[in-house]
Amino acid sequence: MRQKFIAGNWKMYKTTAEAIAFAEAFKNSYSGDTHEVAVCAPFTQLFALKNAFAGTSVKICAQNMHFEEEGAYTGEISAQMLTEIGVTYCLIGHSERRQYFAETDESVNKKIKKAFEHGILPIVCIGELLDQRESGNAFSVVGAQIEGALAGLTSENVQNLVIAYEPVWAIGTGKTATAEQAEEMCSFIRSEVGRLFGAAEAQTVRVQYGGSVKPENAAELMSKPNIDGLLVGGASLKPDSFKEIIEF
Ligand code: 13P
Repeated sequence: MRQKFIAGNWKMYKTTAEAIAFAEAFKNSYSGDTHEVAVCAPFTQLFALKNAFAGTSVKICAQNMHFEEEGAYTGEISAQMLTEIGVTYCLIGHSERRQYFAETDESVNKKIKKAFEHGILPIVCIGELLDQRESGNAFSVVGAQIEGALAGLTSENVQNLVIAYEPVWAIGTGKTATAEQAEEMCSFIRSEVGRLFGAAEAQTVRVQYGGSVKPENAAELMSKPNIDGLLVGGASLKPDSFKEIIEF
């Protein structure tokens, strides 16, 4: 049975003081026993958040990492630096990183492998652009992303992987994919994992949906059999709306 998993991606929002204030408010109102929950915060907030959420079940997630062990890569953060803080998850290949920071399936693949090497669980983000959907290529685009991102992973890796399907046209636009569209793609993703790795991997890998998730649409999305969780952007910035989504 796949545990449901809801993560909030804060992107480049919140100072450390604001992050701590969020954690305090959230802890006071959240019972902590619904689903797996994580907050994906900017690097400078991770240490403070790890402490602020100590004693709760909320996991800490980074938003990116480098694929090399260490080296002369000014401005980059290594897996080891994240594990030292106690980070559990790391987003890899978010569409904003693909769009603005030249992330490719190849770099995503290297980052996934480095993350697993250090015991960090990757949340791999994939999804098509609007014109790719409109031209009927959404499934081939997502299929190629899966094949590139997951190349050479072990069965154990895949079973510990989270894949977030985030159609780029639904991110920050208020235009959510319908629950049917999201389910159709999440089901396709699972079947591709099955084709590439096997039935056990397909049954175990967790697939999240992300893109304009709000308290109003969380329950319908989560009612779908192949949607195991949500990756929430804007609506995760306020403790109340994030909690409403978690408790859908
Ligand atoms: P929004 O929920 O703001 O559309 O962002 C989705 C997202 O990119 C989460 O990673």
